[in-house]
Amino acid sequence: MHRKIEYLSTQEIMTRLKDAGIHPTAQRLAICQYLFCDADHPTAEQVKNWVDSHFPRISLATIYNTLNLLVQAGLLQEIRFSHSEKSVFDRNTSPHFHFLDEESGLLFDLEPADVTILPQLKDQFEIHSTELLLRGRVKSV
Ligand SMILES: [Zn+2]
Repeated sequence: MHRKIEYLSTQEIMTRLKDAGIHPTAQRLAICQYLFCDADHPTAEQVKNWVDSHFPRISLATIYNTLNLLVQAGLLQEIRFSHSEKSVFDRNTSPHFHFLDEESGLLFDLEPADVTILPQLKDQFEIHSTELLLRGRVKSV
């Protein structure tokens, strides 16, 4: 179990957007700086709060448009969990599971290799994807 922190330069974010066919405007770069480097499974509201305190001139419409663009381009994953009404935006777009710390509400990424799906199931079903949320408490290490 780990939380990935990635530090990207503006240039790297720009390249990532361009490679995905997204025109890197200053506003999108600002939002992506938070989404790719700082945020951890944020809701749209959390993105808005961060943007408001750093770049107050970016509108809510721009934030939503940017989130949608990034999801469509495959740079972000939008996930709805059963414990919350709100979607979260996940910069980890590879298949993975989640652990919810019930106390802090923080989500941790789990590698699929750390979770075993019973092999019997694979005889009966062809599994295309798996969504899994484990809930509990993070033990202090
Ligand atoms: Zn995740």
